[in-house]
Amino acid sequence: MTRVGVEEAARLWREASDDELIGLAQEVRGRWHRPDHATYMVMRIINYTNVCVAQCDYCAFYVLPNQDGGYVLSRDDVFAKIDELERLGGDLVGFNGGFNPKLPLDYYCDLFRSVRERYGDRVEFYALTIAEFVFLADRAGLSYAEAAVRLREAGVHWITGGGSEILTEDFRKRHAKWKYTVQDYFEAQRAIVESGMRTTATMVIGFDETLEERLEHLQRTRDFQDQCLADGYDGLFSFLCWTYKPYGTVLGGGEIGAPEYWRHIALSRIFLDNVKHIRTSVLTQNEEAFRALDYGADDFDLPIEDEVTQKAGARIDPDLESLLAIPRRLGYTVEYRRAERPAAFATA
Ligand code: SF4
Repeated sequence: MTRVGVEEAARLWREASDDELIGLAQEVRGRWHRPDHATYMVMRIINYTNVCVAQCDYCAFYVLPNQDGGYVLSRDDVFAKIDELERLGGDLVGFNGGFNPKLPLDYYCDLFRSVRERYGDRVEFYALTIAEFVFLADRAGLSYAEAAVRLREAGVHWITGGGSEILTEDFRKRHAKWKYTVQDYFEAQRAIVESGMRTTATMVIGFDETLEERLEHLQRTRDFQDQCLADGYDGLFSFLCWTYKPYGTVLGGGEIGAPEYWRHIALSRIFLDNVKHIRTSVLTQNEEAFRALDYGADDFDLPIEDEVTQKAGARIDPDLESLLAIPRRLGYTVEYRRAERPAAFATA
């Protein structure tokens, strides 16, 4: 199968049957993965602060500075959450919080250094999303490259592509005008790649975005990865798409159904033919997430906490074995995957 352009992707979305999408997605998936095999991780998102000045209208999580209900987790709170994750068999933490103007870059470097010192390579962590990284670099008056060096020296290996939602400038003006621009996002991500840390791509669907906006997001992601690979970098480790949860948000609205999500996963797998891992979201699609393996996904998280999406209506099932039984019933062998240590840290 040759590479699919935006026009063909739009035609597939509008006209292709599910069976046709599954067939094409499986063809691309099969370049890297066995058809009956999937990998997963057990992880927790630690929302270290809910204070945020960005005011995205699709967010039910944040409070403004000086409003009631704001918090910053103590170091002991963070360690207790990681200890509990380990007891449950998990080894991946994603740190994610708001744009808290009272927390400087040094706070984060100290936090990440202490986590690395305490847990070593036993626990891997996604230190920040790119959204937070851009905010912190700007607040510190540092270039993205300089901020990346500071974090890397503090023991950070991964900064994920979180906070992307829909990567078009129009979408950001409509819903997140104080967050950052799409250009900022990719410039920061490139600096992260060049620093030797690893990164990922993400996407959230189900707001009011158009098909054209979804495809622009995929096109920009593929272009970014093409450039990384051409320049000799590994670039994006994975692409994770989840779905908007509307409850308690200013934007409101409803949720898209699982069949639309599955079709979008298939389209993403077909379009992103240069990204090895396409991940399905148990956090927002629960039991329905596993069917996306048929539509081209190969990997998933079993999260035990994420306050951001839980505040907006996400439901977390603590019965991990029951969840794992679902992909097994669908015919998949599921294997635990430890977070990869980036090549730049192989001898660190
Ligand atoms: S989505 Fe993130 S950046 Fe936007 S308001 Fe919520 S916490 Fe802040």
